[in-house]
Amino acid sequence: MAVLNKEYINFDKEIKLNNSRKESLARSRKDIKKKIRKWFKENKPDEIQPKFHGQGSYEMNTTINPIVVYDEDGNPIRKYDLDYGVYFIEKEGEDNKQSIQRWHNWVYASVEDHTSKKPIQKTTCVRVVFSDGRHIDLPIYYKKEEIIELAHKAKDWIESDPKEFYEWFNDEKTQKYRLEAIVRCLKAWKNFRELNNSNLKLPSGFELTILATENYYDADNLDEAFRETVRKIYDTLSEDWGFKCIRPTTPKGEDVFEGYSETRRNNFLTVLKSLLDDCDKAKEEYNFKTASEILRKNQFGSRFPLGEDKEEENKSKSLTRSLSTAFIKPKPYGY
Ligand SMILES: [Mg+2]
Repeated sequence: MAVLNKEYINFDKEIKLNNSRKESLARSRKDIKKKIRKWFKENKPDEIQPKFHGQGSYEMNTTINPIVVYDEDGNPIRKYDLDYGVYFIEKEGEDNKQSIQRWHNWVYASVEDHTSKKPIQKTTCVRVVFSDGRHIDLPIYYKKEEIIELAHKAKDWIESDPKEFYEWFNDEKTQKYRLEAIVRCLKAWKNFRELNNSNLKLPSGFELTILATENYYDADNLDEAFRETVRKIYDTLSEDWGFKCIRPTTPKGEDVFEGYSETRRNNFLTVLKSLLDDCDKAKEEYNFKTASEILRKNQFGSRFPLGEDKEEENKSKSLTRSLSTAFIKPKPYGY
């Protein structure tokens, strides 16, 4: 049985943001903030001025380095995904909420020429896309008397609190020592699987984060903790009526899997089962290299380190050795 703890730890190092990457992403958020502020000051001086708040994986330390792809000119594209909340906080006694489209239009206008690519108007945000592949999502919130609502173009204003969510996760991980790494590994798995099959739409990073937290399995090594967390997620989701992912914070109790089509649900369960099966196969292997190859082939790709071409010591070779010595005839007493 080859325990791939070292390989998992190095895989996590490979996918985790290093400090200079973190700083560079933080700088892009800062630049956007400046840009939007300036636009509102100049173009909407009498309206509520925007405030900003980080959210999403960046605040939970679960952002991953995406697999590098290349554009038609051969330039490297790294699809970093950042979220940056834009808040409009109502002044006492005033009602400035108005239509969702109005806020979307203004935020869009404020960042329209920020990069060489046009921003994308999404249902829940304005997305600013950079030429190196990174994008910053700008969800828009309106806050009135402590109630925060997200401007959702399909569902109207919906109560939401992204800060509550990352605080929930950051609190959970103080008890769940390997949770952060498990979430990153799941996201890297999603990245690889989707890149190999563009029809596959796995759950979002946000949804995977909830699933990993709710089904966390603690173990001495990351290999086992990851595999058994995946097993718990799979077992729970594949039970009758078990296919749910409940939002733990405002709007608390919402099943974020509710809108999944049957195809999307079945596809997810199928690839999740294949991940679990490969984790089990790797576990049964004695040779580290062979075990790691199983995970590299269909689940994580070549970012997962290749193990050493040697057998697990204690469980195979040394076992055979100790068995063979056990059959050596003992010397008779007295000699
Ligand atoms: Mg995003």
